[in-house]
Amino acid sequence: MGNIDQLETSIADRLAAVQTRIDAAAARAGRDSAEITLVAVTKTWPLETVLAAYAVGLRHFGENRAEEMAQKRVGLAAEMAASGEDAADVVWHQIGTLQSRKTGIVAESADYFHALDRIKIANRLSKTLVDLGRELPVLIEVNLSGEASKSGFKAENWEQDATQREALRTVLQTAADLPGIRPVGLMTMAPWGAPEDEIRRVFARCRELKNWLSEAQPDVALTELSMGMTNDFELGIEEGATLVRIGRALFGERQRH
Ligand SMILES: *Cc1c(COP(=O)(O)O)cnc(C)c1O
Repeated sequence: MGNIDQLETSIADRLAAVQTRIDAAAARAGRDSAEITLVAVTKTWPLETVLAAYAVGLRHFGENRAEEMAQKRVGLAAEMAASGEDAADVVWHQIGTLQSRKTGIVAESADYFHALDRIKIANRLSKTLVDLGRELPVLIEVNLSGEASKSGFKAENWEQDATQREALRTVLQTAADLPGIRPVGLMTMAPWGAPEDEIRRVFARCRELKNWLSEAQPDVALTELSMGMTNDFELGIEEGATLVRIGRALFGERQRH
């Protein structure tokens, strides 16, 4: 067996195990696992890994660095064109925080942006998207744990704090009013190393916030919840995630990050 075959076999095995866990978590929550999109996080891995992941059936890819996403997007499309295939069913997700000087790359190359955490970023994306004639679905990142190290709009006390709640509603309205970007849901990260019940609570509160925002702004259709990574995706699914962002469980430990 060649190296590429070995890589494909290894990813196929890991994917089958992850899919079984997704299905089981969905079943526990009485959900249909077809509602849950697995975003394969290929950050730090070479194009070869993306090609192998594509070959075993993965179609959604996530990166946290804009240049890396753009490069792999072009690389995958080129490899596929060379073998007479069409990359039209591949979906690229920018999952990481974006620096304002990188908004052009995301406007051009991402199909989803999960980590809108500042209005300045929304404004810049909107300008470029209008120039390009593209529309980008975005998820608003919210910080529900209050950890200072986490990005996202402040939401650690949204249930009690009407000012915080209103600020979040204004963010959603502002993003919805900008041409080119289309808010479709919320994204959150669980507190690092927290006990399971605490992580579950953060994910449940994210779902409740989405529900509250949907009622407060019925003109904006919020359908997505991006919650859960290798360590906590089952909790995310049990609490309503429609997108899970999984790297290590599919590809193994990364060398950097
Ligand atoms: C790296 C990363 C992931 C994937 O993490 P794993 O632990 O490898 O599953 C998910 N979301 C974001 C924002 C990331 O940066």
